[in-house]
Amino acid sequence: MTARIIDGKEIAKKLRYELAQKIDKEPVHPRLAVIWAGDNEASQIYVRNKQKAAQEVGIDCELFHFDKEVAESDIIALIHRLNHDQLVHGIIVQLPLPEHLNSKNILETIQADKDVDAFKMVMTGALWQNRASWTSATPEGVLYLLKTVISDLSGMHAVVIGRSDIVGKPMSGLLLNEDCTVTITHSKTKNLPEIVKTADIVVAACGQPKMVKKEWIKAGAVVIDVGITKVDGVLYGDVDFEEVKNVAGAITPVPGGVGPMTVAMLLKNTYTAYLKQKNSL
Ligand code: NDP
Repeated sequence: MTARIIDGKEIAKKLRYELAQKIDKEPVHPRLAVIWAGDNEASQIYVRNKQKAAQEVGIDCELFHFDKEVAESDIIALIHRLNHDQLVHGIIVQLPLPEHLNSKNILETIQADKDVDAFKMVMTGALWQNRASWTSATPEGVLYLLKTVISDLSGMHAVVIGRSDIVGKPMSGLLLNEDCTVTITHSKTKNLPEIVKTADIVVAACGQPKMVKKEWIKAGAVVIDVGITKVDGVLYGDVDFEEVKNVAGAITPVPGGVGPMTVAMLLKNTYTAYLKQKNSL
C-alpha cells in the first residue's frame, strides 16, 4: 500500500484564498498584533511568514519587536494597551521568549477574545468543555487535515504522541470533542510502539526526528506528523516518512504538511476574533 499524501501546502492555500474572499467583503481589515522578543533565527522566519500570509488575506499585521533584554513589565504594558485598542482583534506572542521572561504570565495578560493562539488557561478550559470559538492553530490545522481524509472521526482510536500545552494536549481535546477514543502518550509512556500500532489515527508531536517507524503503524492508519526538527540544515518530522508511507492509509509530509496549516489557522482564528468583536459592539 502507498499512502495518500496529504498536501497541507495546497489545503492551506485554498483556506487562505477562501478567507481572503470573506475579508474582502468586510468594511475594515482585521488586525493582528505580533509580539516578538530576542533574535531567535527560527522565530524570525515564523514571524515573517505570519506577516506575509496575513497581508495576503487582508489582515493588517503589526510587529512589536523587543530586544532580548526586554523587561517582562514592558511586554505586559504593551499587551494591556493592545487589549484596549479596539482596532486590534488578535494578539500573539512568538515563542520561545528569552529565558528570563515568564511566558505563562505574559500569555495570561492577553484578553481572551484577542487570544488567537488560544494559549490562555481559560481557552484551554473552553476547549476541554467543548465550548471554544477557536483553539490553538497547530492542532486545529491537524484536525482540518484529518477531516480531508476521514469524514467521520467518531469512534476512531487516536494516539497523540506528545502532551505539550501548545500541541499534544489541545490536540487530544479536539479529537475527544470529535468522539475519538484518545490515548495521550509522552516520554514516560511504556510500550509506545505497541500502543501506536492500535491507532486508526496517529498524531506525532514529540520533536524526535524520524522516531515513528513503519512497524509501529497499523495498515491503513492516518498519520499526521507535527514534528519539525532541523538536523544539519535539513528539516525532519517525527515520522520516518519514507518507510511509513508504505503502510499508512494517508500521511503528511514534512515540510509541506502541518506547518502551512498552522499559519492558515492562525489567520482564520484572527478573522473569527474580529467577527466576534464586531458583533459584540
Ligand atoms: P515539546 O518539547 O513542548 O513537547 C514534546 C512532547 O513530546 C512532550 O510531551 C514529551 O514528553 C514528548 N516526547 C518527547 N520525547 C518523546 C519520546 N521519545 N516518546 C514519546 N514522547 C516524547 O514540543 P511541542 O509540543 O512544542 O512540539 C512538538 C514538535 O512539533 C516539535 O518538533 C515542534 O518543532 C513541532 N511543532 C510544529 C508546529 C508546526 O506548525 N508544524 C507547531 C508547533 C510545534 P514529556 O511531556 O514527558 O516530556
